[in-house]
Amino acid sequence: MDTVELIVQASYFLAAMLFILGLKQMSSPVTARRGIVWAGAGMVLATVVTFAVPEVIGGEHAATNVILIIIAIAIGGGYAWVTGKKVAMTDMPQMIAMYNGMGGGAAATIAAVELLKANAEARLDPSQTMTVVDILGADVAILGILGAIIGTISFSGSIIAWAKLDGRLNRSSLLPGQHIINAIMAVVLLGFAVAIYMGGDLNTIIIFYALALVLGIFITIPVGGADMPVIISLFNALTGLAVGFEGYVLGNAAMIIAGIVVGSAGSLLTHLMAVAMNRSVSNVFFAGVGSGPAVESGEQGEMKEIQAQDAGILMAFASQVIIIPGYGMAVAQAQHKIWELTQLLTERGVSVKFAIHPVAGRMPGHMNVLLAEAGVPYDMIYDMEDINADFKNTTVALVIGANDVVNPSAKSDSSSPLYGMPILDANLSQNVIVIKRGRGAGFSGVENPLFFADNTKMLFGDGQKAANELIHSIKELG
Ligand code: NDP
Repeated sequence: MDTVELIVQASYFLAAMLFILGLKQMSSPVTARRGIVWAGAGMVLATVVTFAVPEVIGGEHAATNVILIIIAIAIGGGYAWVTGKKVAMTDMPQMIAMYNGMGGGAAATIAAVELLKANAEARLDPSQTMTVVDILGADVAILGILGAIIGTISFSGSIIAWAKLDGRLNRSSLLPGQHIINAIMAVVLLGFAVAIYMGGDLNTIIIFYALALVLGIFITIPVGGADMPVIISLFNALTGLAVGFEGYVLGNAAMIIAGIVVGSAGSLLTHLMAVAMNRSVSNVFFAGVGSGPAVESGEQGEMKEIQAQDAGILMAFASQVIIIPGYGMAVAQAQHKIWELTQLLTERGVSVKFAIHPVAGRMPGHMNVLLAEAGVPYDMIYDMEDINADFKNTTVALVIGANDVVNPSAKSDSSSPLYGMPILDANLSQNVIVIKRGRGAGFSGVENPLFFADNTKMLFGDGQKAANELIHSIKELG
């Protein structure tokens, strides 16, 4: 190994270490910001060192390669810089789904280049007996093809997830017989993978990619209801795996290590998400769970309204208040007002706790991030399994912008698309106050019987405005 090669490999190794250390620091909100910077530094190092890779700058195409890399960095970096700067906190999940898809697409593209190169080389063989495997080796060919399948499915699936999260596509729609079509497509795709391995031509490679793209779209379209978090973290894991495989193809240590880290972290998160939703991953993929009909509104009686002043009095004289934040709190950016409200109640001797559902909001840990940003101490924040038994001893459950995660039909109505998903048992509190703007459903589109229950009162309005009114109401009590 010459000096340049040594520097390149050492840089890749260092970049991989920075990814791992960065990821480790992201596990706590206290160090997460630093973790992002470290992982970003690793990415910059891995990108810059590409300019020293002998295969890139050593051959006759060196100048073209360098220009192409600079153009790619300018387009990708420029787009990410602009969108990253102006993305709203509530739109982060869409952005993550999009970036995740790009990672899968990039891995699949690497595979395409390597397969096409090997294919072209094999065709130069005068005896016409050489195949892709002879050029790449069996291990590289297999991992390259697997990475191509996984990366392409993750690419098109993540784009569909982005469209759903961004409200550009219906949350769940299942074509008749779609699972059978998907299964047939998967088998045909594997057939094409074998054909490429055995020495398939350019057309085989093109059809193979087209099939993988369509399969990614088809398996994501039916996923709806509240199951999107599982599918998003699964695509994240798949992208990691595809990048790791293609890292092996290129002999790039940074890609291998980063890919494995993302793949394993993503798999763990997928498992945790699936457990939180009480679904198996195959169930999410193949059962079309969450795509059933929503309960008709108006079937369940009337919602009872409450004014902020009365709600404030109820909370001020409560012995315990549990606050349940959801996606609407993020939209309203009401976390600071909610923390102010909490402090007022605590000063009056009310016990206040926060209950976090694992899929509240639009990304894992969404609510924890917002509450940490507002300064809510961690010891006031409880996970679902730690707080559910406490609702029956609670005077007021204050639901702010949460909907699906407190929907009791998940427990009581076997025909509900949410059936089986564990929920926060807000309905067991003596009183429930729900802050939301109107009668709109949550992410799953399922009507929520909690809002019609005898012990529930609706405080209609934007989350931040309503929290502010509650603060005034309690301050007026002196
Ligand atoms: P939901 O999406 O179920 O409900 C949010 C509620 O907030 C809506 O009913 C809406 O009602 C209300 N709302 C919106 N804007 C405001 C506002 N400005 N002020 C006050 N209220 C507002 O949220 P949950 O957190 O309960 O559940 C999360 C859902 O998202 C689950 O279904 C989950 O599976 C899904 N999901 C979660 C992901 C994750 O990783 N956490 C990723 C992808 C999806 P109204 O319009 O009447 O105001």
